[in-house]
Amino acid sequence: MNKDTQTPPPVDKPGAALHTGSAETRRQAAALMGAASSPRKAASSAANGKLGGKRMTPMHDLSCTCGAGDVTVDEDGKPLHPTTCPRGRVIRYRLKKGLPLT
Ligand SMILES: [Zn+2]
Repeated sequence: MNKDTQTPPPVDKPGAALHTGSAETRRQAAALMGAASSPRKAASSAANGKLGGKRMTPMHDLSCTCGAGDVTVDEDGKPLHPTTCPRGRVIRYRLKKGLPLT
């Protein structure tokens, strides 16, 4: 259904102007409202930012395509999975970043 052909709601309703005008005008108005912030939203975002982001995927949940299995590194701390193995790439990334291999 084409929303441009719909009858606009009565103007005494809040937000009624959003149903009038061109699609581009309505898009711009919606973008402005979506970008609005408030002290409460800012505080919520700051608190969520302190949580430290997404947790790491456990090593046993990463698929191994090379057959090396659950071992991660040899006695010299070198990865036992090749870079063609998804688990091997994660092991290298975590070694480089100093993250735990768990
Ligand atoms: Zn592997």
